[in-house]
Amino acid sequence: MPRLLLHSCCAPCSLEPTRLLKEQGLGFELWYGNDNIHPEGEFRARLGALKAYAEAEQIPLTVPVHDPLRWQAAIAGLAGVYPLIDGADDYAHNLAAKKARCRACYHQRFAGLASAARAGGFTAISTTLSISPWQFTGLIEEEIERAAAAYQLEAGFVDWREHYARGQERARELGIYRQNYCGCAYSQQEAELERAAARERRRQKKAERQASRGQLADGRQASRGQLADGRQASNGQPAEQPAAPAPGTSPASCQPVSSDQPAERQASR
Ligand code: SF4
Repeated sequence: MPRLLLHSCCAPCSLEPTRLLKEQGLGFELWYGNDNIHPEGEFRARLGALKAYAEAEQIPLTVPVHDPLRWQAAIAGLAGVYPLIDGADDYAHNLAAKKARCRACYHQRFAGLASAARAGGFTAISTTLSISPWQFTGLIEEEIERAAAAYQLEAGFVDWREHYARGQERARELGIYRQNYCGCAYSQQEAELERAAARERRRQKKAERQASRGQLADGRQASRGQLADGRQASNGQPAEQPAAPAPGTSPASCQPVSSDQPAERQASR
């Protein structure tokens, strides 16, 4: 039976993996090594939530020294803010840059995990990070395997993503602290930029909907006026008047063709 040291990124992401591992009867302990988390207060907030959960569930938890400088050194040359905004010109560039930075981040944390597992007599390592659909799951798997191989351990990678929604729901029910960015200072800025872009997209869509409703209302009003004009003019006038628009037709098709426009312009309507 393997002895598993499970890297925990935070309490909400740990709820379902630990429940499932317990159900399977596997022996495991938690390890909260996350030098990436910024600022210190955020690291403490996530740790506090995890500690309370681990105590309640009687799961042993190890917390190595938090050393952000060690993490900065590990991602040297890859640091930067890379928001992923749909349709933005820099999307592909940012995605590649972010993947490289996150891979280095996974590598740094899993190397610490594997080293601790080896020293503690564990035989396998895994992580709760792979429950999050916001992470690069394939890179996590590769880096867990790499770290395990370097310390002659078993890689217990699991793709937990199908359990993400349930885990978040349980965290809400239990009143567990839930963060709104991945962890590093760059991800905090990226999350803010991505949320601002999403807000702007929603604002634009709303403005477009309102404008199209306004145009529709104008068109209906105009067509009612034309209809009234047509009724007045039909007393003794030739019957060559525009027909009343059908409901739902676009305003453009409701416009009467002006008799002083050139013929080809009229024909194009
Ligand atoms: S976004 Fe998350 S995984 Fe990527 S570098 Fe920052 S903390 Fe690490």
